[in-house]
Amino acid sequence: ETDRWFMKDKIVVGIDAGSSAIKISLYDGETFENSLSPSSWNPKEQAAGLLETVLAGQGHTQAAYIVGTGYGRLNLPFVTKAMTEITCHARGAGYLLPEARTVIDIGGQDAKAIRVDDCGKVQDFIMNDKCAAGTGRFLQVMANALGLDVADIGSIEADAGGQVCTINSMCTVFAESEVIGLVNRGVSREAIIAALYTSIANRVAVMAAAIQPLAPVAFTGGVAQNRALRLQLEARLGLPVITSAQAIFAGSIGAALYAWDAAR
Ligand code: ADP
Repeated sequence: ETDRWFMKDKIVVGIDAGSSAIKISLYDGETFENSLSPSSWNPKEQAAGLLETVLAGQGHTQAAYIVGTGYGRLNLPFVTKAMTEITCHARGAGYLLPEARTVIDIGGQDAKAIRVDDCGKVQDFIMNDKCAAGTGRFLQVMANALGLDVADIGSIEADAGGQVCTINSMCTVFAESEVIGLVNRGVSREAIIAALYTSIANRVAVMAAAIQPLAPVAFTGGVAQNRALRLQLEARLGLPVITSAQAIFAGSIGAALYAWDAAR
């Protein structure tokens, strides 16, 4: 209550400058206003413009504190403080899904697994940012090879339908060739999609095993919107995997929560 009075009319901001999208969360101590814009060739200007627009949209001209995170965080001159993705994602996921003991984030060009304690504090983590396989980029390339958009692939039922279909390559470029080969052999799109999910879930489960994941697992990042992939991940991990409609904003929400603490 004292906080609320002291911070009255104050707004803080968390910005997650990702490889695929810039996410901005405004926070007034009670509610979040989340916005997203696909990353352009000039993220610095884009983030500044988006920030101005969302602040103005809520009747503010400036923020009391801005925490930047994500891949492009060091390229944002207007942030008060930059923080790592691991720290911010863990905090944001802990806010959205407080029961989670592990966070798996699959974004545009990386995948990470974070084990958290019952206060949402990071205990261990592992990250793959060296290879596109098992990331959103992989899903995007394969969706395109199937003539689909990454958001539409989720609406097609993944179903092997008795067809033996696997994607064996660990390399995105070769896996794309495999997909094109399967299409040309007349394998159904549903079966290929099922094989793609298996490939991504395997990759991510093998990575996550290194931190000894605990249940339940919170699935965040853009790829978490794909329900079939979430279920496949659940099967591969042997652990319940939960998500939230706001999961793509985990990083920016976590950043905004840190900004709120710092501005008090
Ligand atoms: P980053 O933080 O790296 O920008 P995000 O967490 O924003 O990444 O996730 C971006 C990725 O999410 C894209 O590469 C895309 O593959 C995936 N994605 C976006 N929308 C969807 C959707 N509706 N279903 C599944 N995946 C999606």
